[in-house]
Amino acid sequence: MALLVQKFGGSSVGCLERLKAVAERVRKTRHAGDDVVVVVSAMGKTTDELTRLACSISRHPPRRELDMLLASGEQVSIALLSMALQELGVAAVSMTGQQVGIVTEAAHGRARILNIRTERVRGALAEGAVVVVAGFQGTATSANGNLEITTLGRGGSDTSAVALAAALGAERCEIYTDVEGVLTTDPRIVPGAQLLEHISCDEMLELASLGAAVLHPRAVEIARNYGLPLVVRSSWSDHPGTCLTSNRRQRVAGVALELGKPVDALELVRHQGLVALSHVPDRPGVAAQLSEALSEAGINVDLIVQSLHEGASNDMAFTLERQDLERAQAVVSSLSGHLGGPQPFVVAAYSELAKLSLVGAGITGRPDVAASMFATLGQAGISLRMIATSEVKVSCVIEDNDAAQALDLLREGFELAPSQVHLEAIPCEDSTPAVRGVALDCGQAQASVHGVPDWPGAAAAVCRALSDDNISLDTIVQSERTRQTPLGAARDLAFTLPRQDLEQARQALAPLLQQWPGAELIPGGPIARVSAVGAGMPCTAGTAGRMFRALADAGINIAMIATSEIRISCVVAQDDGEAALRAIHRSFCLTG
Ligand code: ASP
Ligand code: MG
Repeated sequence: MALLVQKFGGSSVGCLERLKAVAERVRKTRHAGDDVVVVVSAMGKTTDELTRLACSISRHPPRRELDMLLASGEQVSIALLSMALQELGVAAVSMTGQQVGIVTEAAHGRARILNIRTERVRGALAEGAVVVVAGFQGTATSANGNLEITTLGRGGSDTSAVALAAALGAERCEIYTDVEGVLTTDPRIVPGAQLLEHISCDEMLELASLGAAVLHPRAVEIARNYGLPLVVRSSWSDHPGTCLTSNRRQRVAGVALELGKPVDALELVRHQGLVALSHVPDRPGVAAQLSEALSEAGINVDLIVQSLHEGASNDMAFTLERQDLERAQAVVSSLSGHLGGPQPFVVAAYSELAKLSLVGAGITGRPDVAASMFATLGQAGISLRMIATSEVKVSCVIEDNDAAQALDLLREGFELAPSQVHLEAIPCEDSTPAVRGVALDCGQAQASVHGVPDWPGAAAAVCRALSDDNISLDTIVQSERTRQTPLGAARDLAFTLPRQDLEQARQALAPLLQQWPGAELIPGGPIARVSAVGAGMPCTAGTAGRMFRALADAGINIAMIATSEIRISCVVAQDDGEAALRAIHRSFCLTG
């Protein structure tokens, strides 16, 4: 007999008929002998309707009152579902967030869960009842000591369910929804998108908007951090859905269920080399040709970055094993002058480098993590040779001589235990696909800061100024080329960020850029970002080349490239976004 947490979303309980069907499904699980805790959302579009009501009374509804109102939606569903279960002869009891003891931060409208008391739920289960819990809500103690109703943010009942499952030590959490599970890509753009049987929580987080359309990312984060088996499946069918996997199980302890440390591992890979190209012609197919030449020579590249430089030529850089450096340099040099463009490109090679990465689900949406990593290194006078960021990882390439000191500083700064420090690349299993899914993100803009002084801490200062304003950078690429400014050599830093943050970014950076003569923020045109994600990428040579080839064959130019271990992202013109997604999905044979 297992303990299961089953969550049913708004559309699954959208009308009484559906609600009764949910009760029937729960009855079956219960009769099979399992203990069941059910978490439900508000019926159908109730939360939207309640929000509309509030907004027709007040332009800015007070957050406390809004939470009071919105939390009522879930209270209707739990009472009705509990009645429906009892009608079927199943013992059931409904509980609000407060009755369960879901304790959150005192942040109305976006509260994170601190702690879940489990005694009352366990007591009811022990008496044989199905416990029906209101998702999306909790309680917090306000500054003056009063208990207040809070909500977790839209879509938050997934998070309630996973947190409850983790706190109860449930065997697994099942999220029942109106889709069959997680697909290889957005089916509205690519009709051949396929259902995935498995995906890791890290891959799901790296798929960003694609994953978020299926599950609240905070729910995935909790499942990942506590190693909780999570299943997403349809409420309308018996299809088994998609299983989200993560590392070993961990007990929930303490009082910061959702506020655990954002970083849970530090990785160092030494003996790295870097090949940097500048003045690479900016036209479709160049990145593909370079990558293919390298993989034909049997050279596996790790991180790749590319960004546009003025004069319509690109800088490109990639890291690889130190022992392959000379060969790689020869391979790319032989292509210089053969790829078109007004002048041959310039190739430089650097050896004795190390790659240092911070890993953690909490890196998403917490821009201060990257900023404090860069600042810690900058203060110690350690230069960043290359930066690569993704949803669950921030990597930078530094001099190998600095590696030991950098490791100590970051281990201390992020309070990591020795067991969380990995001194070798973590191997992946051969059977893991190189690309599990592809995502398109159209909500981003591109911008670059020209003239960032080439001294330790300068890139950190840019990231810090933005993170202090809570602006998340996604792809960050530092140029290879330097330019001369009154302060000496300077580089350009290109990045992508949420489009609506562009103006705020300009304001946040202004005071800093004033201190650097010649520095300025240059906003870019409308872009789309396509990302291929797969945990098998590190052990599958040529994946990037294949993605670049797919874009080249579709005639799509790549404005920016950034990779991390399990993700390759390309920035393309906004109008090319959908075609890019289709081309990449096809080239990795993700269409069944
Ligand atoms: N009812 C809330 C919403 O619509 C929470 C949820 O459904 O997950 O956002
Ligand atoms: Mg939802």
